[in-house]
Amino acid sequence: MDDEKRHDPYGVLESVFGYNSFRGLQEEVVSAAMQGQDLLVVMPTGSGKSLCYQLPILCREGMGLVVSPLIALMNDQVAAMRQLGIEAAALHSELEADELGKLRDQLRRDEIKILYISPERLLAPGVASWLGRRQISLIAIDEAHCVSVWGHDFRPDYRELARLPGYFPGVPRLALTATADPNSQKDILASLDMRDAREFVSSFHRPNLHLAARPKNAEIADLLAILKAHEKHASIVYCGTRNKTEAIAEKLQKQGFVALPFHAGLSSQEKRAVLTRFRSGEPLVVVATIAFGMGIDRPDVRCVVHLDMPASPEAYYQQIGRAGRDGERSQTYLLYGMEDIARARYWLEQSAAPEEARSIARNRLDAMIAFAETTKCRTQQLLACFGEDFEGNCGHCDNCQRPLKLFDASIPVQKALSAIYRMGQRFGTTQVVSVLRGRLTTAVAAHAHQHLTVFGTGKDETEKWWRSLLRQLVAHNIIMLDGEHKVLKLNGHEVRPILRGERAVMLKDERDLHKAASRAAMS
Ligand code: ADP
Ligand code: ZN
Repeated sequence: MDDEKRHDPYGVLESVFGYNSFRGLQEEVVSAAMQGQDLLVVMPTGSGKSLCYQLPILCREGMGLVVSPLIALMNDQVAAMRQLGIEAAALHSELEADELGKLRDQLRRDEIKILYISPERLLAPGVASWLGRRQISLIAIDEAHCVSVWGHDFRPDYRELARLPGYFPGVPRLALTATADPNSQKDILASLDMRDAREFVSSFHRPNLHLAARPKNAEIADLLAILKAHEKHASIVYCGTRNKTEAIAEKLQKQGFVALPFHAGLSSQEKRAVLTRFRSGEPLVVVATIAFGMGIDRPDVRCVVHLDMPASPEAYYQQIGRAGRDGERSQTYLLYGMEDIARARYWLEQSAAPEEARSIARNRLDAMIAFAETTKCRTQQLLACFGEDFEGNCGHCDNCQRPLKLFDASIPVQKALSAIYRMGQRFGTTQVVSVLRGRLTTAVAAHAHQHLTVFGTGKDETEKWWRSLLRQLVAHNIIMLDGEHKVLKLNGHEVRPILRGERAVMLKDERDLHKAASRAAMS
């Protein structure tokens, strides 16, 4: 390649990558990086972040460093670069001594154009100062949200990256992440000491993702009905615990699905086996914890199901973002319940984190719950969590397609609240619903609850209807499900004006959802 072409991003885009145009913000980012500015790039997964640093590295003089948190991720990228004829290499802790020696020789001879490196390697004694003697064109910091202690992927080594300018004075840095929320972005810039960086934040709207959320009825039956529709493709089912991934995978296997559990408790060999099959293109279901995360790049994942509620809209967005990377229509389902909400709140309050961190986590959790419970367009609601104003409705989320109405639930809510109160705030959902519906169960008789004045005052509604009402009251923080003892309690501050009739409570009428669910169960 002649020299002029080598330095022209448009020429390299075509001749090396084989693309005829930039996507989204790529062009602006590449142009700013060519000028040597520090940048923070926030783009959703699958939108083409890698090119934002690869292209400037190819076009600038010297070698580019790419800090990456995962060895698997580095190896994939290196293989992809080499296929394009680019001299790429990875430097991390899994290299054998002879590989390391060979790499060092190549580096000495300036034969490497782009070096992927783990943060702990880069900051190991002597490494950065040795590399600093070579001509470094740019330092890309991939998955930059790993620097944030508040985030879900925090890596202590990433904090140390703030020291880089000491070793590489004047070398532009480009931090990249798919984590959308404005607080994390501020935290990344502060932690990396990049306060003067230019920020590029692209839209997080993924028009091919169809969002749906609904309360769990019968978890496994709901899941089977969903997965049957996507049998010919790959699906990911996210669960809150390792045990649950194993149990669900087993149940799916019994129903004839190829279902593989994935969690941090597997050996690296087992994990690799799952990843290999996942990438092979065969139809399958991976049942995973959040450990199934970075570097999951199969393009034709058609369906992502959450069986437990994620702790934040950011985590949720990242996880559903693994669907439809090829741009084809893909479906996502959040199945959640009152217990999820209660458990998440319980763990949060139990955590030893400083109050500042807990308060951030609390806000995120509340935003997640609000997303689950909303009757508005879900696309709009989710993007609003990231400060993005989405005009109009998406037209294809569950709420757009089958709107649920809000109704004035003040009277039944008063009944439920007084039942909980009269029962001494010592009983769970089942007993409260039995009392409201006037069911003389053994447990009701055992506590003589049939003599309460509220007994049977809600007998015209179904059990599902009452459970839906109680769940919404938990979501709205009007009542609390004690995470440890599964007991319903009143949130006095919220409850008083409702009982006095000073505050109306609007809730979702989920009767249509219940009817649709029982139709599906019978078919
Ligand atoms: P991210 O890192 O943001 O998750 P990637 O960098 O892996 O995304 O890119 C996602 C996909 O988009 C890749 O398959 C990549 O080859 C493709 N891609 C990136 N930029 C372009 C472009 N300008 N034109 C066409 N395809 C592109
Ligand atoms: Zn919508």
